[in-house]
Amino acid sequence: MNPSRTLCSPLLPQYAGYIDGKWRSAQSNRMLIVRDPATGDRLAEVPDMGEAEALAAIEAADHAWRTPVPTGERKQWLVDIHSKLLANRDELARIITLEQGKPLKEAQVEVDYAAGFFQVFASHLERLKPSTLDKTIRGASWTAHHRPAGVAALITPWNFPLATLAKKLPAALGAGCSVVIKPAELTPLSAIALVHLCEQAGVPAGRVNLVIGQPAPIGKVLCEHPAVRVISFTGSTRTGQLLLRDSAAHVKRLALELGGNAPFLVFDDADLEAAASALMVSKFRCAGQTCVCANRVYVHETVLDKFTEMVAERLSKLKVGDGAQPDTDIGPLINRATFEKVARHVQDALDRGAKRVVGDEAKPPGNDWGNFFPPTVLTGITPEMAVFQEETFGPVVAISKFQSETEAIESANSTPYGLAAYVCTRDSQRAQRCTEQLAFGYIGINTGTGPIPDIPFGGVKLSGFGREGGAEGLLEFSEIQTVAAAE
Ligand code: ADP
Repeated sequence: MNPSRTLCSPLLPQYAGYIDGKWRSAQSNRMLIVRDPATGDRLAEVPDMGEAEALAAIEAADHAWRTPVPTGERKQWLVDIHSKLLANRDELARIITLEQGKPLKEAQVEVDYAAGFFQVFASHLERLKPSTLDKTIRGASWTAHHRPAGVAALITPWNFPLATLAKKLPAALGAGCSVVIKPAELTPLSAIALVHLCEQAGVPAGRVNLVIGQPAPIGKVLCEHPAVRVISFTGSTRTGQLLLRDSAAHVKRLALELGGNAPFLVFDDADLEAAASALMVSKFRCAGQTCVCANRVYVHETVLDKFTEMVAERLSKLKVGDGAQPDTDIGPLINRATFEKVARHVQDALDRGAKRVVGDEAKPPGNDWGNFFPPTVLTGITPEMAVFQEETFGPVVAISKFQSETEAIESANSTPYGLAAYVCTRDSQRAQRCTEQLAFGYIGINTGTGPIPDIPFGGVKLSGFGREGGAEGLLEFSEIQTVAAAE
């Protein structure tokens, strides 16, 4: 272990969970070790909590939300946390990079992105005002009220440890809910830092609770406890399906942002240089470990060679390494299992006749960390290959060709997932036709950018339902109560 990498931060007052306004260890005294995925350095030990702490957190949250807090005060929390996130941008980025592995410059963007959700949701709290019909119907006046849904469970993954939480937390607090946060066990430190900032912003005890530890027992309590009324989850489709099943008895509201298998269509009329740059932005963010990363690249056959060359040239300039180094473009994969999955996808494609145009053979390191995967371009991809069937979650560009617009759209839609899709064309009518026919919750036209806080984002089909961002993201945490009052 390199002691200089041990994480000691003013934003991490304790390596602990947080229940009812107090920093807590695990009843069992078990601990989880958090490591830097680039080096294996031990960053921290955090409590390995379970059922008992989940229960205590739900009870604290249930008690807290029943004391109403005026909208103006809730708005002030969001405004204050937004400022605190920006004031601590560099330190938060350092924490994200150390526990997640992504390059520092991406971690800084993540902090800005996360802060944006606090600002946007603060600006939408007006939407929670009751609305009354301007006429009497059946002798009554009619009003729709937005009520807080109650306790919300926020379960987040390791790829954006701060931002995925920031998409949910301000919406829930803004709507008047209290929350129980369960971050990914690989990356709990960004969540601790954010909870610390909530505490500093004066959010009262019980409104924000943090339970770090075993996903299955904690998840079970969150699903089965009747006081939890909303589960907002970002993660795998498999876990999302479990949560749906286990929360059915209480008919809970769910917002599920699940896996994707994003197609990226490049037409022969596209600005190829711009399309290649857009692909780089989409594909290599977080070393390819995001659910909106382009996964299946379909290129018109007449521009295939030229486009592949442009991508290869851009790829050769990328620097793979420790995210903490300022010139790194691609950090390590989060763990060995992810590395092995990406390697399996590449090998499967090669075995089935694909060609590796760029990329060395992937050699796993001798130990469990430092899972750097060489950026790879594969051509000659066919639909049955694992790289097209599943989300690869790594720095691999898998390219296939098409002949017609109809074929491109059909291929893009030939997946049970429906999160993000990208279209590169100079023809605006074609862009419109593609947008209308692509069954995805998010479409990027001539851009590889991901979602922004200001407008709703989410998936369809196996990619989930519910929306984050915009006013819609706020309304996921409020219930409408209709009041008819006889005059
Ligand atoms: P990934 O494969 O991206 O890690 P997961 O769905 O396994 O996706 O994890 C996303 C989040 O869901 C993490 O916080 C993880 O701990 C949590 N999780 C995993 N399994 C369960 C479960 N059975 N119940 C509740 N949360 C879970």
